[in-house]
Amino acid sequence: DRRTAVEALRRLTVDVPDWPEAGVTFKDVTPVLADHAAFSAVITALAAAGRDDHGTVVVDKVVGMEARGFILAAPVALALGVGFVPIRKAGKLPRETHAVAYSLEYGEATLEVHRDAIAPGERVLLVDDVLATGGTVAATRELVEACGGTAVGVAVLMELGFLDPRSVTGDLPVESLLTL
Ligand code: AMP
Repeated sequence: DRRTAVEALRRLTVDVPDWPEAGVTFKDVTPVLADHAAFSAVITALAAAGRDDHGTVVVDKVVGMEARGFILAAPVALALGVGFVPIRKAGKLPRETHAVAYSLEYGEATLEVHRDAIAPGERVLLVDDVLATGGTVAATRELVEACGGTAVGVAVLMELGFLDPRSVTGDLPVESLLTL
């Protein structure tokens, strides 16, 4: 259940100080993925964000953001019985895309989605490992909307509350298993 997932995240996530640069504490969740019970518990807990109070699935697609988002979003999609859509860094997707540029702490990045990956009217759940500034989620939401879909929520393992991501994610419901 959710408590098991949160406990596993606390126990297994490794804080890596000053990586990839001074002042950043990187949250390394690879030990969570390497532990079957922990991995399974966090996937079940994330997938709950795609269901209503009765357990009915309320999303049509799950999108994951490159690269760690893929590892979580794909099994969440399977758990919910819906399709998975990758949100990729610029230049990786081979067919027609929508693209959104957004600012990072230093410089800019561009994310893309295949134009036909989400149909107009589809309800979409966004999944990633860490919600930091919220920029990645905001850009992904724009991509979903460019396809004509609706972002109905975001599910993450961890939210870095001290970076105030919700000022950027706005009215999009956020489900974080752990808030730091
Ligand atoms: P942001 O756009 O600032 O919310 O950053 C989110 C993206 O960067 C996510 O895809 C995370 O995987 C990654 N990220 C940002 N900060 C961290 C951190 N402290 N530890 C691990 N991943 C991070």
